[in-house]
Amino acid sequence: MKKIGIVGAGLVGSLQAIMMAKKGYEVQVFERRPDLRKAGEIGGRSINLALSDRGFKALSLAGVEQKIREIALPMYRRCMHDLEGNLSYQPYGVNNEAIYSVSRGRLNQILMNEAEHYPNISYHFNKTTTDVDLRNKEILFKNEDGSRERVAYDKLFACDGAYSAVRSRMQKVPQFNYNQQYLTHGYKELEIPANPDGTHQMANDCLHIWPRGEFMMIALPNLDGSFTCTLFFPLEGEMSFASLTTEEKVMAFFERTFADSIPLMPELAKDFFDNPTGHLMTVKCSPWQVEDDVLLMGDAAHAVVPFYGQGMNAGFEDCTVFHELYEENKGEWTNLMVDFSDRHYKNGHAIADLALDNYIEMRDKTADPDFLLRKKIENKFTRLHPGKWLPLYSCVTFSHTPYNEAVTIGRKQKKIMDEVMTNPQIHDLWDEEVTMQEILRLLEKEQSYA
Ligand SMILES: Cc1cc2nc3c(=O)[nH]c(=O)nc-3n(C[C@H](O)[C@H](O)[C@H](O)COP(=O)(O)OP(=O)(O)OC[C@H]3O[C@@H](n4cnc5c(N)ncnc54)[C@H](O)[C@@H]3O)c2cc1C
Repeated sequence: MKKIGIVGAGLVGSLQAIMMAKKGYEVQVFERRPDLRKAGEIGGRSINLALSDRGFKALSLAGVEQKIREIALPMYRRCMHDLEGNLSYQPYGVNNEAIYSVSRGRLNQILMNEAEHYPNISYHFNKTTTDVDLRNKEILFKNEDGSRERVAYDKLFACDGAYSAVRSRMQKVPQFNYNQQYLTHGYKELEIPANPDGTHQMANDCLHIWPRGEFMMIALPNLDGSFTCTLFFPLEGEMSFASLTTEEKVMAFFERTFADSIPLMPELAKDFFDNPTGHLMTVKCSPWQVEDDVLLMGDAAHAVVPFYGQGMNAGFEDCTVFHELYEENKGEWTNLMVDFSDRHYKNGHAIADLALDNYIEMRDKTADPDFLLRKKIENKFTRLHPGKWLPLYSCVTFSHTPYNEAVTIGRKQKKIMDEVMTNPQIHDLWDEEVTMQEILRLLEKEQSYA
């Protein structure tokens, strides 16, 4: 029986542990932090994530979908807050689909609890992977007391996140390609607490966005009535985290840009200085495996900026794709990791690019009337011709189309919509049959080139 090592007991590591245990393997999970279920980390600040169809598919394969749905709040629409505090709405899906706000800590906790139901999974906390001996197939650890240790593996899944130690070792392997790029914007989490009766202060079926061109704030609801807000903002410059050095400056900035949020955030200035400023980066690398022994998954393989809400979903989809390949191979391991990497790494690169593009869309274009009109036209066309058009956002969020194919579809759609929007009468005709016919014509033209 093969010994499976997993580095990282985060979201992807815990899910992959369940997937491998279900296949009957002996699975050891090594995590550098203490057990988050005992360390009180879940009781701290709520940090939430948007979970969508790709993530749910993997959770369903692992048999935990229902448990996660119980802690997930559906968000059907974007709710945009303009400078005056006026609200406008934009549905996420064409058929009332939702993305789901879940607490990162609780999600991780449920996955770990589920994993521990399997007698063939063991968790080992406070074990920091420092290196991997690829030739002898051993993981090198530093324990909490500073002692060093080696543990043998037959197959190793590196799920140790964006700053992966296993990936650092792979960077020394010939023909491993690596690219890392920081955004000049960072982020800070803030909180909108619940009303005294535990209800939400804003609509809780929306993802709230304050789009402001060069920067934005978003808020996702939590089960306890609070919202976690995230301010995405330049790190340096005239208007930046670096320039907001006093409580007065923070409050004046919020008065100017997010005035309607101030009454909702009584601890704003305190939170602003108490909470750390996070950095955002993109990692693209390939191949994702060494020989047929070590495989990168999740952020270790593809760290992406959070603007498509797909980082975790993409990591969970890695587990699905591995499972499907394993089934195709009828449990035969030869070339499995090589095939996984060959088949899937381009999707990691594609979601990285899509996520960067979506930052512009969220912070800038969601406030642009022409952009909103495009969305309305696309949605109408999709409803009339469901087999012919699925808007890019839906393709990424509500379908299982490989990300790489979604990029190609999105390019084609953009070209068509750019042309449709050149019609000077489009604001009057957008809803008319003539516009739908024009899209059909352009679509056929595109297909004849394909
Ligand atoms: C602000 C923000 C918002 C986001 N929002 C969303 C969203 O809405 N939707 C979405 O899908 N994704 C979102 N993401 C992305 C998502 O958080 C990640 O894609 C996801 O957490 C990746 O899971 P992972 O298991 O690969 O890595 P991680 O969650 O980072 O887990 C890695 C684990 O490995 C452990 N580890 C690290 N190094 C070592 C080592 N040397 N030895 C042993 N253990 C180690 C870590 O302690 C950790 O437990 C967001 C990210 C950010 C920053």
